[in-house]
Amino acid sequence: MGRPDPQIRDAMLAHLRQNYPSMCRHWFDDIEPLDMSGGTLKLLVRELVQLRYLQRCCVAQFTEAAQVATGRLLAVRFVGEEDLNSPDHDERGATPATGKSAREFGPLAADDDMILSPDYSFANFVIGPGNRLAHAAAIAVAQKPGKAYNPYFIHGGVGLGKTHLLQAICQASMRSNPHMRIYYISCNGFMTQFLDAVQAGQMAEFRHRFRNVDLLIIDDIHDLSKRDRTQEEFFHTFNSLYQAGKQIVLSSDASPAEIPALEERLVSRFNSGLVARIEKPCYETRVAIVKSKASLRNLPMPDDVASYIAARIDSNIRELEGAITKLQSLAMLNRCPIDLELAKQAVGEPTGGNGAPGPTIQTILDTVSAFYDVRLTDLLSKRRHKSIARPRQIGMWLARKHTRYSLEEIGSYFGGRDHTTVMHAIRTIDARRGSDESLDREVARLEQQLVPESSSMTTEVS
Ligand code: ADP
Ligand code: MG
Repeated sequence: MGRPDPQIRDAMLAHLRQNYPSMCRHWFDDIEPLDMSGGTLKLLVRELVQLRYLQRCCVAQFTEAAQVATGRLLAVRFVGEEDLNSPDHDERGATPATGKSAREFGPLAADDDMILSPDYSFANFVIGPGNRLAHAAAIAVAQKPGKAYNPYFIHGGVGLGKTHLLQAICQASMRSNPHMRIYYISCNGFMTQFLDAVQAGQMAEFRHRFRNVDLLIIDDIHDLSKRDRTQEEFFHTFNSLYQAGKQIVLSSDASPAEIPALEERLVSRFNSGLVARIEKPCYETRVAIVKSKASLRNLPMPDDVASYIAARIDSNIRELEGAITKLQSLAMLNRCPIDLELAKQAVGEPTGGNGAPGPTIQTILDTVSAFYDVRLTDLLSKRRHKSIARPRQIGMWLARKHTRYSLEEIGSYFGGRDHTTVMHAIRTIDARRGSDESLDREVARLEQQLVPESSSMTTEVS
């Protein structure tokens, strides 16, 4: 067993902080180099959620860091405490569970794209007047599943912390009761698995998968809208779990009654437990969130900078986080400390011609979604139908032109796409505008709404 020199870990972390600053978290310091033999560097991660997260999202970056730090062609493998005694055993989580795209996470099953973020814990959730009830109820549900509030239904606008609370419930439940069977999935994931099961004639397996859990957590349940067959199936899943005293937690962008085309019997069931609404955060809460997010990244955040960012960005918390990422990159790039001047650069002095602030990405998303009558969730989804893909491309084009965000950042706002997709979208819109008059008119009208004082805006953006 070749226990690696501790300096290798320090050199790796330094490389990661330099090259992937927004990925780094303070708990990376707890990662322990365990063994370096056979061309593989094994890193021990004691917290299960952190381990899963690193295995799914950070292997490439850590591998690069290990190779730079050692000058050798190494592979990196994250292992948990349970793997210590059985070195040949592949990490748990590598074996497919019952569902096609589901994986066992010890006590937790989740869809492939539903990775729990260690950031989304109760400890990292800032409480304010707008989310106090939702937070308190989430804690109660995690402590007494099936008993406190069932179902528990959280609703509120985009980027206000619904997914964060859902994942916090998962993490707290996993910790307090390792034997609990938890299923965490998006509504679209549930729908896809249902349709796959119908097609494959595997409904018995599907039902077993969803009805034999102690805690079922479904994110973005508003996506059930207009999905008649899935609603029917979900109704039976719900009843079966509910009658067995199992906990159900749902999130949505609208209250049960406001979800379009949702069967009345589902509306009444969703309303039968606790429905908690998350409101936009007030200024004090936003300041506290900026500080909390910065400290997660080990980033010094002077009070005046936190206040400035919180004052400039007042709706969506995801944008607050985007501002911190931007600030962090600027500080690294310019090799300077984070101060008010830099914050002004990062969250933007006005971009409009006459001193008015430019639109935020959220405003662009909302405006495009209303203009083309497409749902925000569709704009951010992977769907490629022209009726959605075109508005999405226009949204990216507008974001590039009217905000200071980079291609990467715009991609991450538009449903986690990479910068080449954004670049392609911008080029496509630029190329078509010359020959497509109706597109030209649409863009001009959108710009009128977003930047009313701008009169003629015909420049290309790529
Ligand atoms: P939603 O699911 O409501 O669209 P998310 O849960 O994804 O929103 O939250 C968006 C971002 O804002 C996440 O990074 C999340 O951690 C953060 N966030 C939201 N509310 C809070 C809060 N009260 N404290 C700390 N971070 C928060
Ligand atoms: Mg969400």
